[in-house]
Amino acid sequence: MVVELISVGTELLLGNIVNTNAQYLAEQCALLGMSMYSQTVVGDNKNRLAEAFRTALKRSDIVILTGGLGPTEDDLTKEVCAEVMGIPLVDDPHTRERLRAYFEGSIYKEIPENNWKQAQVPAGAKVLDNDNGTAPGLIMEKFGKSAILLPGPPDELHPLFQEQVVPYLRALRPEYIFSRMVKICGVGESAVEDKLLDLIDQQTNPTIATYAKIGEVHVRVTARAADEEEAKKLIKPVVKEIRSRLGDNVYSVQEGETLEMAVVGLLKKHGLTVTTAESCTGGLLAGRLVNVPGASEVFREGFITYANKAKRKRLDVSKSTLKKYGAVSEQTAREMAMGGVFATDADVCVAVTGIAGPDSDGDKPVGLVYIACYMDEKVRVEQYQFRGNRAKIREQSVVKALDLLRRTILDSDRGK
Ligand code: ATP
Ligand code: MG
Repeated sequence: MVVELISVGTELLLGNIVNTNAQYLAEQCALLGMSMYSQTVVGDNKNRLAEAFRTALKRSDIVILTGGLGPTEDDLTKEVCAEVMGIPLVDDPHTRERLRAYFEGSIYKEIPENNWKQAQVPAGAKVLDNDNGTAPGLIMEKFGKSAILLPGPPDELHPLFQEQVVPYLRALRPEYIFSRMVKICGVGESAVEDKLLDLIDQQTNPTIATYAKIGEVHVRVTARAADEEEAKKLIKPVVKEIRSRLGDNVYSVQEGETLEMAVVGLLKKHGLTVTTAESCTGGLLAGRLVNVPGASEVFREGFITYANKAKRKRLDVSKSTLKKYGAVSEQTAREMAMGGVFATDADVCVAVTGIAGPDSDGDKPVGLVYIACYMDEKVRVEQYQFRGNRAKIREQSVVKALDLLRRTILDSDRGK
């Protein structure tokens, strides 16, 4: 089954917006085991869109189009696709009623005349109700081909795709595809591959693929089977084997679970509170923790102690330590982590101090970072030499800090 994408919008061609819809849909289609060989971006232009759509229909079984379903004059995806497929537009009472109800609950007193255009659908099309906007998604089928039209705004497209298009695409295929992601932190991609080499070499069903991320490695295990249960059965022992080979380096096997989610989950599980003490990451670490809904249960306070004076004042790092070893040192990281716990009464504190660059600091190189974690009167410090630009060094530092926090808890008596 070959699928392709057409992203509609002049804004995309001008570079005013990033084509995140294409990235999202490509990834989702791959997860469903569909082949994709082409993607097209086309402006809000009738002739060029018609041309792109005709070409796509010739070479693919399914064409997914996003954007241009709105109420304005330049929104013409539905009109053009219906015309190319030779399907007339008809009034859809169901969509008309939904539009009326949508505007009734809004600040608009009257429904803008343009919006009624959205109640017109290609005859016989499947109408995908859009709970987050006014333009419904549409599926047109003809000559054994399907055209799937979806609204441009990602917050409308994502739920529509997950809830209504995924079941449609699944039903088109005789087999079921299911995959599970094993997320790993603390070992590099080649080390992971080394440990899994025989599994990767033998793979047929399920298949195993590794992906390198900043500071992390993800391993996707994908199985094809007649149904979901069968696919899960194929995946289970492989995931188990990967976990047993990689041990504590695996932080999650749950879809969508990030490192910070896993860390917050662990803190919650053991009833622990955390403080952050940051220098070169300047709040990025605290920000990652606070990304997780419910972080307030475990995260109370974060320090951004950029200047030496701040390290002394907020975290009680001693003057002599700073003078003797410098702000970027094992000793300072250690004192920052201890100071964070004492200043806030948290159970654990993770501290980061380093040189994000571009300028080095005396004889200390760019990318030198110390990360410390203090818990139960014990402190663990790690030294890193990261590569890359300022942003990448800071991001890697955050990943390693989250991971050190995770490992400190796992290895502590309270984390057993
Ligand atoms: P609307 O009813 O809002 O007009 P639409 O289906 O007509 O929706 P467009 O007008 O093409 O869609 O785009 C509306 C907005 O959706 C864009 O301004 C942009 O914010 C977002 N958007 C559109 N296409 C994409 C895309 N490919 N990737 C990411 N965002 C997109
Ligand atoms: Mg529009």
